[in-house]
Amino acid sequence: MHVDRNEFHPLEVDRIREDFPIFAGDSPIAYLDSAASSQTARCVLEAMDGYYESYRSNIHRGIYHISEEATAAYEDARQKIARFISARRASQVVFTRNTTESINLVAHSWGNANIGRDDEILLTVMEHHSNLVPWQLLAERTGATLRFIEVTDEGLLQLDDLDQLLTERTKLVAITHVSNVLGTINPVWEITAAAHSVGATVLIDAAQSVPHLPVDAQALDCDFLAFSGHKMCGPTGVGVLYGKRELLEEMPPFLGGGSMIRAVQRERSTYADVPARFEAGTPAIAEAIGLGHAVDYLEKIGLDAVHAHEQQIIDYAHQKLSEIDGITIYGPKPRMKAGVITFNLEGIHPHDLAGVLDTTGVAVRAGHHCAQPLMQHYGVIATARASFYLYNTMEDVDRLYDGALKAQNLLARRQG
Ligand code: PLP
Repeated sequence: MHVDRNEFHPLEVDRIREDFPIFAGDSPIAYLDSAASSQTARCVLEAMDGYYESYRSNIHRGIYHISEEATAAYEDARQKIARFISARRASQVVFTRNTTESINLVAHSWGNANIGRDDEILLTVMEHHSNLVPWQLLAERTGATLRFIEVTDEGLLQLDDLDQLLTERTKLVAITHVSNVLGTINPVWEITAAAHSVGATVLIDAAQSVPHLPVDAQALDCDFLAFSGHKMCGPTGVGVLYGKRELLEEMPPFLGGGSMIRAVQRERSTYADVPARFEAGTPAIAEAIGLGHAVDYLEKIGLDAVHAHEQQIIDYAHQKLSEIDGITIYGPKPRMKAGVITFNLEGIHPHDLAGVLDTTGVAVRAGHHCAQPLMQHYGVIATARASFYLYNTMEDVDRLYDGALKAQNLLARRQG
């Protein structure tokens, strides 16, 4: 079947691309790896430069005006992020390094205090290692048991089993909102409601949802939500943990040091209120300010518009790539997922495919995508993954398609 990309009506992205310096020039990269890390918007770079050039200083303690300016900018970023995810209060937003650190914070601080040897932690088979290994470590420390929601061959969660999996022993449910491999958008609201009905606490790994879809933490009613700045047009080195106020307030510190204390004596200390209690040491000040500007930028474009744009691209990518002989595409139909397409070409290792694509200026990821249990479910060691964002175009899909054909020609000839 011939697919005409003019049948699709992508958003006008030419102007958006001008906001990203990496796409300047005559032969821009087809960047299809935003699920790993997005590109950075110019306004974010300018905001960070502004801090370094004009008011660089430490925050919260300085009694001079540039420190007060830096403190205000850092706290302003917290306010913006709270509004972006519809948190009730800014103090429910804790700055961390990334999603991984946010989840580890919960596993140590909340987990050590609340999980015992008779308890169960419910995860899914499609978790990123960031939302698996911290719970394995917690289970090792406490003797708790890990249980898993299975994945169907179509790449959806097997929710028929949920009633059996959720019992009064389930103390925590930790699930990804959007799979970084399959793109599946999971019904996290329903799972959260079911988990709460047995008294379990819920953590949502929102690393792949907050950058791409409107996410309302209060409407989801989750207890914790974790995401990373570098996947949402922001800088590396800053992430977020959102938590319900009553949970955060009763949690002990994760890391100890400066900024997180109220008073320190030789033998013991008392701790600051949240969120400072969880932000030990000098934080990533410029990065937090940059993330606040990334949020401004995404809000201006609108997360509904970003999601709709990605849906159009992923529709087109599915149709176009399905034309290739010997392709296996993993995961659900385009309408049930975010802007990620994962596939293998028969007889070609995904690393070799990614290498050939790179020679044509197309950047995709190849490997296990930090989701080895999901790879085991599909019986593969690795896949190729193309992931899209607001600055991608239908031409990027065409370049992926042409590069895949080139890889088939080259590698088949070499093998033949
Ligand atoms: N969770 C998911 C679903 C992810 O896709 C990723 C990164 O790819 C992470 C967690 C970890 O994010 P980070 O490396 O920023 O901690």
